[in-house]
Amino acid sequence: MAQPTLSQIEGVDFPPVLGARAATLMALQQQFDETQWWPAERLRDAQFTQLRLLLAHARAHNPFLAERLAAAGLAHDAPLDEAAWCKIPVLSRAELRQHGDRLVCTEIPASHGKTSVARSSGSTGIPIRVTKSALAQLIWEASLIREELWHRDDPTGTIARLHPPPSGLPDALKAQVDSPAGAVAPDWGPPCNIIWKTGRIGLMTVKQDIAAQAAFVERIGATYLYTFPSNLQLLKAHYQSTGRHPPRLRSIWTGSEILSPDLRRDCEAFFGCPVVDTYSTAETGYIALQCPESGLFHIQSETVKVEILDPSGTPCLPGQTGRVVVTPLHNFAMPLLRYEIGDEAEVGPPCTCGRGLPTLSRVVGRTTDYLVHPDGRRTRSSQLTGEFTGFPNVVQYQIIQRSLERIEVMIVADPPFTPETRQPLQSTIERAFDHGFTIDVTFHPRIPIEPGGKLRPFKTDLPEGIRA
Ligand SMILES: [Zn+2]
Repeated sequence: MAQPTLSQIEGVDFPPVLGARAATLMALQQQFDETQWWPAERLRDAQFTQLRLLLAHARAHNPFLAERLAAAGLAHDAPLDEAAWCKIPVLSRAELRQHGDRLVCTEIPASHGKTSVARSSGSTGIPIRVTKSALAQLIWEASLIREELWHRDDPTGTIARLHPPPSGLPDALKAQVDSPAGAVAPDWGPPCNIIWKTGRIGLMTVKQDIAAQAAFVERIGATYLYTFPSNLQLLKAHYQSTGRHPPRLRSIWTGSEILSPDLRRDCEAFFGCPVVDTYSTAETGYIALQCPESGLFHIQSETVKVEILDPSGTPCLPGQTGRVVVTPLHNFAMPLLRYEIGDEAEVGPPCTCGRGLPTLSRVVGRTTDYLVHPDGRRTRSSQLTGEFTGFPNVVQYQIIQRSLERIEVMIVADPPFTPETRQPLQSTIERAFDHGFTIDVTFHPRIPIEPGGKLRPFKTDLPEGIRA
């Protein structure tokens, strides 16, 4: 982004003099500009220096973590390396839910600021609460600004944000975001509006009818669109079926769900602009940002340690897929040490852009997105969907494992299937699931989304003991 920053001093335009928080955020960008080129070994060493400080704090101010570290043989502030680090047991989502407040430290350094509680709906819909410091929020904003600098070419553009209302919105404004009128704010809000003179942002919930969402995007003259991949797919189908011209966008930004390579390609071709995807969670902050030059995702090594582990706990090599384990480096309020967030991702090769930040090729799905066969075998559900999502009128789908013998495949189709065109779909699905399951294909005008606005491609009714 080549736009000049915003001076906070009255009567001074050149050179712009930033306010305190904006200056801190931009000073971090200047450091990121250097650290992103460091070789992987130097980044790893710097991470361990920071992790030593995090562990020392956890030992001193959190009896639960102190005991956990001692049991793992890390009772003292000894030199930390990969071998010692791997002794720390991985923290599952279930453990995070179970232990909850015991993971919150009794105190944090005053300079880390006040604490607040972030909530994540999680894939199971059972909320997770994470206590975060003001410093953790600053780090979140620093990654957000980095993404703007990497990908946004014009801060004066208008953003259409098709998403659930952001947390902390006043009730009246929230009601407007939920209404068919949507809400329009004069600027993008913090932290962007303290750094640049930004354009407007329009907010509308994804629960609105897709035609109302499309009308809103057009009405506000959006140049950027931010939404869930599943909602983007609905929007694309809306324009295709109505024959209306899609809005002229500079780029589309997605997050919070898996963006499949097919959907990315189709949307880039249809809307005629790049799709920028991001990988973050409420609990951990930004995990990886899309490279501005390649299609890979750069792990944000300055703020999180990310491990991709195979079933035996060994780090995966490029090309291999494993469980995503994340340690945020700076949230002293509630240190999440080796937190398994419940996703699986593929390790990427060193990036051709030259940045030393390690890469992920893609996030593959949730660790729970497995179909269980009657004989106990497990198949990743997304491996089975490639064929039938190739039908051009299939807009959305959801696979639900009803029992060990029965699967329901919910389909949203536009235009709808006729009795003649249904048969090839039914055969394709039966071939894809050719494992003795009884398959019910059902058609719907729209698939219900989760309370947080996401669409889950796979659900299971199997009890936890069988599906795990
Ligand atoms: Zn790169």
